[in-house]
Amino acid sequence: MVKKLALSALLVVLLAAVAIAASGYRVEEARCTGCGDCDRICPVDAIEIVDGKSRIDPDKCIACGFCQVVCRYDAIR
Ligand code: SF4
Ligand code: SF4
Repeated sequence: MVKKLALSALLVVLLAAVAIAASGYRVEEARCTGCGDCDRICPVDAIEIVDGKSRIDPDKCIACGFCQVVCRYDAIR
């Protein structure tokens, strides 16, 4: 029973990860201060700051999630 629950939870986590990877990360401009932390941490240089706001290139993004973790303003969803 416990094993089944653990497997179900793992499946939910995996499906959520796949869903995020498929939909991609986006910047909520109203929250973005243009601090550049996400730009500096992105391992594939998929982010640039344009007119004081972060912009993610979906073609370069590998959905690692680092930018979301580092953003202090909760601007990346
Ligand atoms: S870390 Fe957050 S607030 Fe800073 S530029 Fe990136 S999205 Fe904007
Ligand atoms: S999810 Fe990763 S690869 Fe995509 S923009 Fe953010 S830091 Fe860069």
